[in-house]
Amino acid sequence: MTNPRPHPDGLPLGADHLRWAECAQTEPVLFPFDGTEVARAPVGTAEHAAQALETAAAARPELAALSSGRRRAVLLAVQNILAEHRAAFEDLLVLETGKPLVDCRTEVARTLTTWSAAAEEVAHIRGETVPLDLQPQGEGMLGYYTRRPAGVVVGISGFNYPLLLASHKLAPALAAGCPVILKPSPEAPLAALWAVDLIRGVLAAHGITPGAVQLVTGGAEAGEALVKDPRTAVVSFTGSAAVGHRIARDAAPRRVLLELGSNTGLIVAEDANLSAAVDAVIRGGFYANGQACISVQRVVLTEPVADAFEELLLSRLPGVLVGDPRDGNTRLAEVIDSAAADRISSWITAAVDGGARLLAGGTAEGRSVPPTVLADVPPDCAVWREEVFGPVVCLQRVPNFAAAVESVNDSRYGLHAAVYTASLQNAFAAINALDVGGVVVNEIPGFRSDIMPYGGVKDSGIGREGPRYAIEEFTVTRMALIRPE
Ligand code: NAD
Repeated sequence: MTNPRPHPDGLPLGADHLRWAECAQTEPVLFPFDGTEVARAPVGTAEHAAQALETAAAARPELAALSSGRRRAVLLAVQNILAEHRAAFEDLLVLETGKPLVDCRTEVARTLTTWSAAAEEVAHIRGETVPLDLQPQGEGMLGYYTRRPAGVVVGISGFNYPLLLASHKLAPALAAGCPVILKPSPEAPLAALWAVDLIRGVLAAHGITPGAVQLVTGGAEAGEALVKDPRTAVVSFTGSAAVGHRIARDAAPRRVLLELGSNTGLIVAEDANLSAAVDAVIRGGFYANGQACISVQRVVLTEPVADAFEELLLSRLPGVLVGDPRDGNTRLAEVIDSAAADRISSWITAAVDGGARLLAGGTAEGRSVPPTVLADVPPDCAVWREEVFGPVVCLQRVPNFAAAVESVNDSRYGLHAAVYTASLQNAFAAINALDVGGVVVNEIPGFRSDIMPYGGVKDSGIGREGPRYAIEEFTVTRMALIRPE
């Protein structure tokens, strides 16, 4: 509901009839690489949130009445229009997040898959019959249920994958027939703003009220107003555990879907392909500048392979090219802001002071944290226990595979975990015993297919994303109980 004018020069703006609200205040969005201003973004307030909720609530009957064919057509049209602007989205994501171009390309490709998958899922929103005559009172009766749109969906997202995270809220909400309000991160709101502007154009072109999809910029004030309002039926949140847990309390008793952080573990069994496991730490620990909820943080090495793994990892670390994120060869660039760089540095220092060995990298210079490897980190250190959300991996040695599983499970988080092993026995033992939302065998824990059920256990969240599973979260069953005469 805020002004769409923050787009950098040259990006298309929405038509006037799409009626974005004016915003009194703006704040600069900075390019993390060099601190230059990308654009000024409007700062939405609690009043903007209330206005958006009123519009969304008014759109609810129209959305609920849309045929599945029309919903599918809109989703496919959105996918098309985002694909048309693919390269510009990639460039804009590099500027506002500071993520290397290679990661922003992946983000846009996955965004497109998410929209097309949501379009396909529209054809699979089904109910079933219920044999009411199991009980004598129900003899002669007909029972069935359908899935109905839950109502207004509020999507709140973090800064690291702003377009993809937004799409995992917007696309399934539209597929389910729900109006949706997005509140992106104030640090990286631009791609989401532009995408929502394009989506509203698609809705208008299909004769559907643009009020079905809205966006409120701003920070906690706007977010809190959206979460606490009784007109909100479901909150879908992707961000930190601290904020997510607060949102769960603020939204109660309404439904929440929480996609939170983790301190992801990767086990290297004694029968692992060491070269592949090292490659996984290089790829999986530093992509997106280490700012991914499932990037490798805790590497648990079984003793017989620990020395060889350490040596090979350090020999390949120079392959993580640090540089300008606009360069297609760069693999690591500045983290999002100085506060993040300072926090990561203080955690590295505390670990070293506590007895950890610093094998590579170290504290930040400005916003640039070098690829850092720590070994023998005391398990009560923040860099092991909490989510580091930066380019830092910690190595730990344990005597055997069972101890490795125990170590990975010794965490308040549980999103993804990975295991490198050549044996089916170890692979299935890990799948059975790791207390996480997804166990990845012989791939990086950061592997996520956008159609699979994705989410965590413990403090990493509740509910699952992926269009099929998010549609379940955004719909409710409505039972029909009929006595035909
Ligand atoms: P964050 O929790 O600081 O902010 C996320 C969003 O919440 C922002 O839009 C922010 O403005 C909003 N917000 C803050 N306080 C609020 C409140 N009281 N009420 C409502 N909204 C509020 O997260 P971040 O730093 O932007 O993102 C990084 C975090 O996101 C990491 O912890 C990462 O692991 C997590 N993440 C998780 C997934 C996943 O799918 N599990 C994916 C990406 C990122």
